[in-house]
Amino acid sequence: MTQSETLFEEARQYIPGGVNSPVRAFKGVGGTPIFFKNAEGAYLWDEDDQRYIDYVGSWGPMILGHANPAIINAIRDQLTHGTGYGAPSSTETAMARKICELMPSIEMVRMANSGTEATMSAIRLARGYTGRDKILKFEGNYHGHVDSLLVKAGSGALTHGQPNSPGIPAALAELTLTATFNDLESVRAIFREHGPEIAGIIVEPVAGNMNCVPPVEGFLEGLREVCDEYGSLLIFDEVMSGFRVAPGGAQQRYAIKPDLTALGKIIGGGLPVGALGGRRDIMSHLSPLGPVYQAGTLSGNPLAMRAGLATLEGLSEPGFHDDLEAKTQRLMQGFRDCAREAGIPLHVQGAGGMFGLFFTDQPEVTRFEHVMNCDTERFGRFFHAMLKQGVYLAPAAFEAGFVSGAHTDADIDATLEAAKAAFSTLT
Ligand code: PMP
Repeated sequence: MTQSETLFEEARQYIPGGVNSPVRAFKGVGGTPIFFKNAEGAYLWDEDDQRYIDYVGSWGPMILGHANPAIINAIRDQLTHGTGYGAPSSTETAMARKICELMPSIEMVRMANSGTEATMSAIRLARGYTGRDKILKFEGNYHGHVDSLLVKAGSGALTHGQPNSPGIPAALAELTLTATFNDLESVRAIFREHGPEIAGIIVEPVAGNMNCVPPVEGFLEGLREVCDEYGSLLIFDEVMSGFRVAPGGAQQRYAIKPDLTALGKIIGGGLPVGALGGRRDIMSHLSPLGPVYQAGTLSGNPLAMRAGLATLEGLSEPGFHDDLEAKTQRLMQGFRDCAREAGIPLHVQGAGGMFGLFFTDQPEVTRFEHVMNCDTERFGRFFHAMLKQGVYLAPAAFEAGFVSGAHTDADIDATLEAAKAAFSTLT
């Protein structure tokens, strides 16, 4: 028995499914989750001392690599001053200012403790600001486990076959309308019927929870137009894409200005964090300035602020994103070449430091139905063949992959060598 198997057995006695977030359970790929005990740079080490090249990066935050010295030093320094005050500190303003600089659509920021809190607060604010109740989201987009947003959701909800979770009152779920990602007409059709009741559209501008699906040309522009036409707010969920697909996120990459933006992951540098930002007139509706209530005991926690600031400073270095994207592109092209040589139909796409592998011979993967037509069983076999060779991919076919600044050319070459061997076992 491996250490992970032993530890998982024990964990299952005390933790539902042995995990604190469902997608970690390996349900989509089979087998036992790996228990890790160390992380540095592009690598993870498991409890049996096996090393892995990591393309999960704690599901996105580790864009500078694990245990980045600047982040660790910032946390260490803060530790000597205490771990939290429950009162204002200057690091919160420094964080808010940095976010506003990197994402000019954001004029004010409220910190929270997870991406879920950020999207939850975003839709509450959109409802409070517009006085409307309905929200439009996209099938296969995931915005955390917010009641109103666990409707036709992606990520673990999809892997575990529960895109609509029990426990959410039908009366609430009815207020969530769902359209097809990358299909503007599906959005317009819903607006023709319900437009004046819709508080806002929430969208992952680069979908990363139905594998990785970038927006088709004109899609995000079209969402902006529809929102302007009907007086609804455009909410970008950049919890994943923020600071990853460009220094200013998807809104910079595709030059679209949302009204509100939900953030998380990278801005905490690996510590628990979320944030909601946007137009000053809308953000001014948040308590204590305005009537829409939002709060948090640990919000703006100085450890998370210092770790997040160190991360944002690191990725603001000139050329960081060009290097990250070039590296990711090389990895993606390598996967394509290896699969073609092995005669395995594989579609690969991505944006910035995000990528997705689709086992399919469909000419394009732009919509949810294309994602659902991919061979998830083959992905599971590929995942395990890579794992055996020391490459850790996301343990589910519906998740994006993440590259970090710490991945070297040698890491990518080693990954592609492993992929070559893995593809040859799949025929
Ligand atoms: N939005 C998006 C786009 C996400 O990818 C996630 C998490 N993967 C969330 C929201 C929820 O964030 P958290 O898990 O921190 O609550």
